[in-house]
Amino acid sequence: MGYYPVPRTGSAGASMDDLVIRGGEVLDGTGAPPVRADVAIRDGRIVAVAADHAAAARRTLDARGLVVAPGFIDIKTHSDFTLPYATGAESKVFQGVTTEVIGHCGLSVAPALPGRARLLQDYLAGFAPWIEVAETSFAAYMDRFPPTAVNVIMQVGHNTLRAMTVGLDDRAPTAAEQDAMRRLLDEGLAAGAIGLSSGLFTAPGSFARPEELHDLLAVVRRHRGTYATHVRDEADGVFAAVREAIAAAEASGVHVQIVHLKLSGVDNWGRAGALLAEIEEARARGVPVDCDAYPYTFAANPLRNLLPLWVQEGGLAAMLGRLGDPAARARIAGEIEARGLTSFGRVPSWDAVSLSTSRTRSRDAGRSLGELARAAGVAPIDLVHELLAADGGATFVAVSSIDEADVRALLRSPAVLVGSDGRSVARDSVAGQGKPHPRFYGTFPRVLGHYARDLGLLSLPDAVFKMTGGPARVLGLADRGLLREGYRADVAVFDPATIVDRSTFEEPHQYAAGLAATIVNGVVVVEGGAHTGARPGRVLRRGPAGVA
Ligand SMILES: [Zn+2]
Repeated sequence: MGYYPVPRTGSAGASMDDLVIRGGEVLDGTGAPPVRADVAIRDGRIVAVAADHAAAARRTLDARGLVVAPGFIDIKTHSDFTLPYATGAESKVFQGVTTEVIGHCGLSVAPALPGRARLLQDYLAGFAPWIEVAETSFAAYMDRFPPTAVNVIMQVGHNTLRAMTVGLDDRAPTAAEQDAMRRLLDEGLAAGAIGLSSGLFTAPGSFARPEELHDLLAVVRRHRGTYATHVRDEADGVFAAVREAIAAAEASGVHVQIVHLKLSGVDNWGRAGALLAEIEEARARGVPVDCDAYPYTFAANPLRNLLPLWVQEGGLAAMLGRLGDPAARARIAGEIEARGLTSFGRVPSWDAVSLSTSRTRSRDAGRSLGELARAAGVAPIDLVHELLAADGGATFVAVSSIDEADVRALLRSPAVLVGSDGRSVARDSVAGQGKPHPRFYGTFPRVLGHYARDLGLLSLPDAVFKMTGGPARVLGLADRGLLREGYRADVAVFDPATIVDRSTFEEPHQYAAGLAATIVNGVVVVEGGAHTGARPGRVLRRGPAGVA
């Protein structure tokens, strides 16, 4: 006598769900209050959000006492530098993130034109020393992006376009170069990139006048794409810089995302309310502008970006040449003393700047440049030169330059979404080296746990909206960001009582806690505190019906 199991295919299987998440408090991503319901998933889509969903399921996840939310959309990341080297996206999926937007701040890894890949690689090494750039069109880059645990939305970076056409010089593009930028942008958008990003504070994007961007935004407009901007100045010139972004939205009709909005430098602390009033006034006039922010009082950046712009001009060799001259170094130190750090404004001292990632001084990661200079008996600017020369320009630092009260004002504003400005990393991957900013690991749980639950700064449904329905609307996602029948099954299940970020500046490589499950395209990626190893993410492309 043999025993034969009932086959899983056939008519019985067809009526069966793949997974039902039972009995959770469902936050649908619109900001509406929670509703107790089951969420049923079949073939990668949500097929029911209903009380006591009756259909049989291959798998059941008990979510009693837990919140079931749409997977979080990280609208602001640089994970293009890390995902190919850490395809599990560990630091993000342990936060509940299921989709990442890459190519921000003007920096994209494509297009890399024939003969110019090395230039782009050297340029991007300041942000990601491990990165390898090969000649590629934007379309081929999208096609060849590896399978990852999260979905990915791509942008074409203006700094990259400029590096590929004008190079790194401080000058306006010729008509032919502007034409070439337009053509490369058009190719990227046609391939499915969502839009253009700019980094107007970082060379060579900083050398562009508004007209150059307006010309490119006409191309974006034609494709119904989006524009995300790291504004020209986040310190003493932040009001003028935000006005430039609002003007770009108004002139072009393209939606503008002001990324990692902040007021940097002690002279600007306490002015978030006034800045938000200008943004909210523009929104009230119908200007399509939104912002995002991360929930920390310090920023991370390549050390070289803190120097006056004239020092950075012309690329790495030119910069190190200037820094090698003692007279120029004295002038640089004097300018920083008087005007503060480029884009960060005045900080009390070099004690506010801490070493984050250094190839040659990894043992000193976490210590401040002020402390290290005192210990070595040298001037801080001499240490800066030493670090940049030894690291080939690729030293990364954290700068304590933001006021806690301003962070809170931004997080509460309806104009501000949550974005990490962080990268997907795994604790032990090449891309996770040094001491990265804790936002890589903790942004979303920190908003949900620290700011919403512990401080009561915003309600849980509002906090979840800023990570799901809010960014989905801004990005034009066709079928993600809400828990609705027919939507893609990107889901985050977490314990609202225990969700917490554990990553700190001193010990950043710590995954968040309180996440019960992360599901991407219907596939479980995180469950029971462990990564399943699945890589169900896809590159999402902008098409006629939205981004899908
Ligand atoms: Zn940026």
